[in-house]
Amino acid sequence: MRAAVFPRPGVCAVVERELPALREGEILMRVEACGVCGTDLHIYEGEFPAQFPVIPGHEFAGVVEETGPGVEHVRPGERVAINPNIPCGVCRPCERALVHLCRQLRTIGVTMDGGFATHCVAPFRQAHKLPDSMPCEVAAFSEPVACCLHGIEQADPQPGDVVAIIGAGLIGLLMVQLVLLRGACVVVVSEPSPQKRELALSFGAALAVDPQEEDLGGAISRATGDSGADVVIECVGSEATAQQAVSLAREGGRVLFFGVAPEQARVAVSPYEVYRKEIAIMGSFTNPFTQGRALALLESGRVKVENLITHRLPLTEVPRALELLATHQTIRTLIEPQT
Ligand SMILES: [Zn+2]
Ligand SMILES: [Zn+2]
Repeated sequence: MRAAVFPRPGVCAVVERELPALREGEILMRVEACGVCGTDLHIYEGEFPAQFPVIPGHEFAGVVEETGPGVEHVRPGERVAINPNIPCGVCRPCERALVHLCRQLRTIGVTMDGGFATHCVAPFRQAHKLPDSMPCEVAAFSEPVACCLHGIEQADPQPGDVVAIIGAGLIGLLMVQLVLLRGACVVVVSEPSPQKRELALSFGAALAVDPQEEDLGGAISRATGDSGADVVIECVGSEATAQQAVSLAREGGRVLFFGVAPEQARVAVSPYEVYRKEIAIMGSFTNPFTQGRALALLESGRVKVENLITHRLPLTEVPRALELLATHQTIRTLIEPQT
């Protein structure tokens, strides 16, 4: 097999390796498409707790080539998407059904070898079979869509709500679609890239503003005649946008921190305002029990991703894919290891 490996932070090498031997319950997949996520960039930059050396890539789909002993439900030749997050099943959060908050969480592409490779091994329980009509490159979105679905369930937008979305990269553009499916009546987006603003509008956002030119709060007033949003979804992960997110919530508002902020980032919150306006501030981590529904949304066409693919690159171009992401020149790059 061939793989793009990070031996340590800041280094990416394409290497030839022996195919791994399958253990109990494992499947060997031929990877057809793997999304390049901000987490891969954070791992490369040494800002995410990964286990080096690692083959990154946790958003992928492909064809089962071989199954190990004790594998049920999945057979060679079937196409699957992988849920990369593997809980231990016995720690306190796991015991409380908070499997995504597992204290011994292992993640394919982060703490175990992932999908930037021609082949990848995964436990069969992590595999979701694909509908016949779904291309692998669409199925490779099921992991980020699943993460967004969990975020939506946390923020719980209601029919008729005004929703503000800060940042319209891949995640923001998925969130626009999902909050509209939840019945949000006005979605206002803040995003510096004209191309991404255009896409946000095409998905049904009422307004998409350039933060360098128009304040999002002002845009919400312009769109609704009232100040503030019922739900604010922060999809950037900076201190400034997190601060802005809290300030945009109106009475009874809910603020979701979805963008991955640096660990040391801090924002100022007025406890009085949180109390007086009953503002809820919440987080969302990964994809507990949402990937099957993400696949259903993709299959039905109610969440659309084809327009979000800006680059398709072979394994040798993983460094370029990371560079494109770091310089905001891409919405979604797919690594296609068989090319
Ligand atoms: Zn990801
Ligand atoms: Zn656990």
